Order: sequence, then structure tokens, then C-alpha cells
Amino acid sequence: MVDLPYDYLERVKRQLGASYPAFLKSYEEERTYGLRYNPLKIEKETLRQALSAQQITTEQVPWAAEGLYYPADTHPGRLPLHEAGAYYIQEPSAMVAVELLDPQPGESVLDLCAAPGGKSTQIAGRLQGKGLLVCNEVISKRAKALSSNIERMGVTNAVVLNETPQRLAERFPAFFDRILVDAPCSGEGMFRKDVQARGEWSYAQTQLCAKRQREILAQAVQMLKPGGVLVYATCTFAPQENEQNAAWLVQEYPSLRLTAQEQIWPHLQRGEGHFAARFIKEGTVFAQAAAELSDRKNRGPVSEEFYQFCEQTLTAQARERLLEGVRSGRLAAFGEQLYLLPPGIRSLDGLKTERAGLQLGCCKKRRFEPAHALAMALHPDEVSQTVELAEPERYLRGEQIGCGTQKGWTLVTVCGCSAGWGKASAGVLKNHYPKGLRR
Ligand code: SAM
Repeated sequence: MVDLPYDYLERVKRQLGASYPAFLKSYEEERTYGLRYNPLKIEKETLRQALSAQQITTEQVPWAAEGLYYPADTHPGRLPLHEAGAYYIQEPSAMVAVELLDPQPGESVLDLCAAPGGKSTQIAGRLQGKGLLVCNEVISKRAKALSSNIERMGVTNAVVLNETPQRLAERFPAFFDRILVDAPCSGEGMFRKDVQARGEWSYAQTQLCAKRQREILAQAVQMLKPGGVLVYATCTFAPQENEQNAAWLVQEYPSLRLTAQEQIWPHLQRGEGHFAARFIKEGTVFAQAAAELSDRKNRGPVSEEFYQFCEQTLTAQARERLLEGVRSGRLAAFGEQLYLLPPGIRSLDGLKTERAGLQLGCCKKRRFEPAHALAMALHPDEVSQTVELAEPERYLRGEQIGCGTQKGWTLVTVCGCSAGWGKASAGVLKNHYPKGLRR
């Protein structure tokens, strides 16, 4: 018999009626494992073949196009392809929320409770680098982990913030086309994979969570455009945090209409458990003047060194893509660091910012050093020099690699996915994989 809180089981028994025994039995079964391929960096079939070559067979997750199950006794999180951002390890049922959100390329999307970035990186894949993704996390340490996952997955159009929902609502009234609130919750859907979470459960805690979720939702509604879509998600089964909060939301905000509601149960589907509800805000979107970056003082001059780097390292098409962003006033300098802000973002002044879009690199002492984030965001066919690693572990450990007659900045790839920079000289590729990420 599994060790679960008595009050929790009694409540689920009332909730599920005849199917309760099947639910209880699911705790004796193996938990599910999933990953989501990253369409920004790899084709699904290419990834499946690469994993299969490592004896990891995958199966499609039925409710998310990017989702794949992998077997319990395998460890895809340890492969170099993971560091290259080819996929994100994510519990399969958690993939349902972004499926409901259905973000479209070019839209402005907010992920309000975003760390460590499972759903943000799924949204980024759907946006295909077009539009704006604002990922926010209130806890500073978690915002850093989120930022690092955004970098690993090669996302070019995301801003990572470390703010409270209230501060964001003051800055972005009626701004976003789509908002995801993946709220902190009592985590009942974690009980199979996290035994400690079972001990932390109490009825009082579910009530506390429900109250906090309403406070977060109230701020989210303020930031949604008329005609916009809001998805509210939790990884719990508690009705007061799920259906009851969804009902509260439409009652409190009559402009919202509930258009879909899904609960994944471990005894009915191959997933640990997730709830997601989708709302549309009534009203018409009036043509808005494109929100321009008003933060002029952050627009540093484009250095000659950066142009030279683009000239020497990037193909004409990639160069044009970056420089077009620069010409449209999206280049921002923070100290020596250059960033390309996503289109449509207003000033970031006064907001705690972990990542201001695509980090391009550092201009110092008349040199331009490209950022790791830029490498992760480039495709091998966008640079003039690449090296496909025969032994990626050596690169990830920070070792120097032998190379041919190449000279200068070289994109290092794993199975065709960019993994970082190397600088070639005299037959040797100097390793520029960030020290903090090395194995
Ligand atoms: N969406 C994330 C993902 O897919 O990787 C998981 C988000 S997790 C369920 C909820 C997040 O909400 C946590 O990172 C937590 O730090 C954050 N959080 C906690 N209290 C909050 C609050 N009062 N307002 C906003 N976010 C909060």
C-alpha cells in the first residue's frame, strides 16, 4: 500500500467514485518519462534516430506534437545532444498546457510563472523565433536557471524577467496576445515521482495555493489584450485549485469565456497529472502602433568589431537577419554586452532582467567576443565555418580539439546541432564552451 495522506485519498475517492481503485493502483506502476524535441534546432525524426543509436527508443506523446516518451532505465539528460539543446526533459502531461495555449509565430506571449522553463521553451518552439516571448520568474535563483535553459534551447526572441506578477501588470496593461499561468500548486501530480512532496501535502496548503493562484490570475487578466487567450495550468488534482479557480475566474471577470478544460489522470493517460483551462478575453484587438523600444539610452553604438565579426563568421543571410534587427533599433548595450531585443518590447528600464533577448556578445578592447547564446541560436548553415564533433564529451569538458586549416570563430556542432564556439588557429580549436557549463 502506498504511503499517501489520508485526507488526500479521501478527497480523491469522493472526486473519482468508481474509478478510484484504478487511480490508487496507478501508484504501484512506474512513473512516465518524457522529453520534448526542440524544433528550433532539430527535426523530430533526426532526434529519434540519434537517440535510437544510443539505445533510447521513443514513443509519441498523444497530446503534444513535440512530446516523446522514453524508457525509465535510460538517461537522455546526460547525452551531449541535451547540452546542444536538441530536447528538453519534461514530464509528458505538463506538455498539454502549451498545446491549449496554441501560440502562433509573431504573437506576444507571456509565461508568467516560468522557471525552470519547460513550458517557455515549448512556447519558443511554437513561435519559431517570430514575435515576443516574455518569461517571468519571481524567485531570483530560479530565474537564472530559466535563463540558462532559454540559452541552451537557442531561443532568440525571449526576454527573461525576475518580477512579481503585480509589477509586470503595471508595466504591460492589455499587452499580450497569449498568457500562460502555470501556477505554483500543491503538486499532487508529482506524488508518484517525488515521495517527499507527499509529506508536504495538507488540506490547508491546497487552500493557501488556491488563494495565491487567484492573486496571480487577477494580475494576468490585466495583461491580456481583448481577444487574447489565457491558459491556467497546475500539476494537481485539487478541485479548489483547478475547476473551482477556473469558475471563480469567469465569475470575477465576465469578459473571460472558458473555452476548454483538461485534466490528465495517471490511471487514464500515460502522464503524472496536469490540469489546464483555456479562456478567451472578449473584445476586438484594435490595430496598435508597434510598441517601440523607448529605452534609447540602452541603444549603444554598433561597434566596428561586431560588424567585422558578422562579416567574417556569418553567411550573408544570417548577417542580414541580425543587422536588420540592429537597423530597426533593437540593439541594446548593457555595459560591454550587446543584446538584440525581440521586436515589440517596451523599455526594460527598472525591470529586473535576466536576459534581454538574444545575447550577441561582448565588445571590449577593440575585440568582439561572440556569446554562447549566439552560438546556440545559430544554425550550422548560417556560419562560414563549422566543426562536427566526433567526441562531443571532450568539447563539453573544455578540452582543445584538433581542426583542419580553419582560422577564426567556428561553430561547434553535435549531430548537426550548434553546441558552442571554438576559435581555430594553427590546426587547433581553442575551446570557448562556457566554464560554468563544463562537465
Ligand atoms: N512553468 C514552469 C515550467 O514549465 O518549467 C513551472 C512553473 S512552477 C509550476 C510555478 C512557478 O511559480 C515556480 O517557479 C515558482 O517559483 C513560481 N511562483 C511561486 N510563487 C509565485 C507567486 N506568488 N507569483 C508568481 N510566481 C510564483
